[in-house]
Amino acid sequence: MAQIIDGKQIAADLVAEVANGAQAIFSEYGIRPGLAVVLVGDDPASQVYVRNKVARATEAGLNSIEHRLPADTDQVTLNALVDELNNDPAVHGILVQLPLPEQLNEEEIISRINPRKDVDGFHPINVGELAIGNATLVPCTPQGCLLMLEKTLGDLSGKHAVVIGRSNIVGKPMALLLLHANCTVSIVHSRTRNPQELCKQADIVVAAVGRTEMVDASWVKEGATVIDVGINVTERDGKRKLLGDVNFADVEPVANAITPVPGGVGPMTIACLMNNTLIAARNQLS
Ligand code: NDP
Repeated sequence: MAQIIDGKQIAADLVAEVANGAQAIFSEYGIRPGLAVVLVGDDPASQVYVRNKVARATEAGLNSIEHRLPADTDQVTLNALVDELNNDPAVHGILVQLPLPEQLNEEEIISRINPRKDVDGFHPINVGELAIGNATLVPCTPQGCLLMLEKTLGDLSGKHAVVIGRSNIVGKPMALLLLHANCTVSIVHSRTRNPQELCKQADIVVAAVGRTEMVDASWVKEGATVIDVGINVTERDGKRKLLGDVNFADVEPVANAITPVPGGVGPMTIACLMNNTLIAARNQLS
């Protein structure tokens, strides 16, 4: 039986630490770290994410400021809001919920956010800092995965990690973080030959693909640790279910440890966002 990695509990512990840090800032400066969350349009999934982020921010003693803009917002208006938030000393972290409606240029917005307030860690300067091993603000989902791996396995040095997926928000930064943690890292993507064989050699598998239950037991070495990033909304037996990129029932008997979906990576992503806001506030106030 694999250890089920309790993302909810590890996230709750991190949020409690953030709350202590936020209280220390309040005692010293009389202000609360401020997180501005910008939501453009009415995508239902984005609304749920934003609601969860705002609720968790309040729990962590942060001052969360929500900006909701209509779906037909133009680039000039969104740019102006980002500029205003960049210049607001009460705002230490800025998160623009992605994806944006198609008339808006995501890259332009990401690059417009002050890198010191970029709590998503997507700004090209922060991406570069991560690549050279000097990062301050690291993308939240891979950071959450790394924390769970370290909590479960301790030192990761020398382990062979396979990351499935190479997106800018999960796969690539995940691979860099594992490399900096002294893993030997392979990245599997849609053009990889024999991905299953490669994955079967790994001590650590991180699946960030967006394909429901693609990774079954035939991909996983006995005793490997498996992190499932996938969130796939699926109809099963007439019910709406959230399923991962890993077939949990199939993989759990062969793994050493595994994250559930939901209750694994999701809560850690939000907790790391709170932590990044605290880090950003500390850096801007010192
Ligand atoms: P993307 O669609 O941006 O990237 C998917 C990656 O998977 C791509 O690199 C793609 O390769 C690769 N891929 C697709 N098909 C295959 C295949 N058959 N074999 C191997 N690789 C394949 O997704 P994201 O990285 O944004 O997200 C991945 C998953 O994680 C999604 O389910 C998403 O919902 C979830 N997610 C969860 C978060 C959380 O907080 N829990 C946060 C962010 C994402 P190629 O580059 O060649 O196309």
